[in-house]
Amino acid sequence: MPPIRQLEPVPGFEVRRVQPFEAVKRYVCGGCGNSIEAGTGHVVAVPIDAPDLRRHWHWGCWQARDRRRPVG
Ligand SMILES: [Zn+2]
Repeated sequence: MPPIRQLEPVPGFEVRRVQPFEAVKRYVCGGCGNSIEAGTGHVVAVPIDAPDLRRHWHWGCWQARDRRRPVG
């Protein structure tokens, strides 16, 4: 797996990387809807005005988000 690089800031979101050791459970990717397995480094995007709507994303899906608009 390639290392996670610098995250670009996204207006309206707090975006941070989740390290493999922090990923203690399985998540559903907000981009593709598939599982992000426990122990997989990924990205979490938290809308600043709606923190309850935080979504976890595969790194690759996040990088490609301009081509795959987030749902919800
Ligand atoms: Zn995905």
